[in-house]
Amino acid sequence: MPITNTKSEPGSTKTTPWARERQAAIDAVRLAARACRSVQQRLVTPETLQKKDRSPVTVADFASQAVVCAHLAAQFPQDRILAEENAAELRQDANAAVRKVVVEQVAAAIGKPLTESQVLDWIDRGGHDTKGSPGSNHSPQRFWTLDPIDGTKGFLRGEQYAIALALIENGQVALGALACPNLPFAGSRGTGVLLVAARGQGTQALPLWEPAPGQPAHVATASDTAQARFCESVESEHSDQAASKQIAQLLHITAEPLRMDSQAKYATVARGDASIYLRLPTRADYREKIWDHAAGMIAVEEAGGRVTDVDGKPLDFSRGSTLANNRGIIATNGSIHDAVLHAVRQVLR
Ligand code: AMP
Ligand code: MG
Repeated sequence: MPITNTKSEPGSTKTTPWARERQAAIDAVRLAARACRSVQQRLVTPETLQKKDRSPVTVADFASQAVVCAHLAAQFPQDRILAEENAAELRQDANAAVRKVVVEQVAAAIGKPLTESQVLDWIDRGGHDTKGSPGSNHSPQRFWTLDPIDGTKGFLRGEQYAIALALIENGQVALGALACPNLPFAGSRGTGVLLVAARGQGTQALPLWEPAPGQPAHVATASDTAQARFCESVESEHSDQAASKQIAQLLHITAEPLRMDSQAKYATVARGDASIYLRLPTRADYREKIWDHAAGMIAVEEAGGRVTDVDGKPLDFSRGSTLANNRGIIATNGSIHDAVLHAVRQVLR
């Protein structure tokens, strides 16, 4: 079914909730994805890969954040943005060369000449803290959260990465837009998927690079865990791969884990290409960042799945920049969630 536009019906006074925000989020992550792809094509070379030079991802990270914050600032000037980066280092004299390239990339993405200070100020719009005052747990009622490049290592390897933008209202994720430039778009030979989900409105998968009709995304229907595939991080520091192996055995899963960077894992569960995403704590003191989960979580939930932490608790987005009340993440197609949680508890006990 093609996605119809989000404007109200003729003669109707009702509008779909978050219709403007949804379109703004789609446009913002599309622009950012183009900027990231351009940096990848121009700056990631065999030489940078061999030297493990992180400067291409640094440039893309800042350019992506500037582009998204600029777009949101124009559309919703009152809204705050809590993003992963800020421009403090980029403002330093020692980083003049990187700064110049960032400004060039943002100007190319937006299609007009820009000054350095415009670009730096856009990046710093995302540098807000959501806390009302130091030490308080107060969060503003409404803010956006952005990971300009989630999966930086995947970006550098030419593998999976994502641009993840979500709107939080009253501590709940209301809307998410998740651009995955290197995930295949179902039914086409090309890559590039944009999952967009608004609370109560389902998840839609759109082609990332051109404004074309999308299709609803649904989680896998299978309720037999033995048939399930699970996703986890490539990086063993981000998720305990030895524990996930034991959990898979308890669930009689025979398929190899799908290891990929970024919230492309949530997208994979939302589209039914895997039924489980396990993120098992490797350190007791690590707290997940909200921008690593908000957009992915709502994409899975609105596609019919379920997302909790490893204790089965809902993710709590009311605690500022981290999921301070949660540890780890379990995302599933829903029907197998309790079985997966049971196995997780047995192994992590
Ligand atoms: P992934 O691509 O799923 O492995 O996740 C990438 C994200 O992991 C980054 O954006 C970091 O914010 C986050 N991260 C960093 N250290 C840890 C850790 N010790 N445990 C879990 N996530 C982490
Ligand atoms: Mg991230």
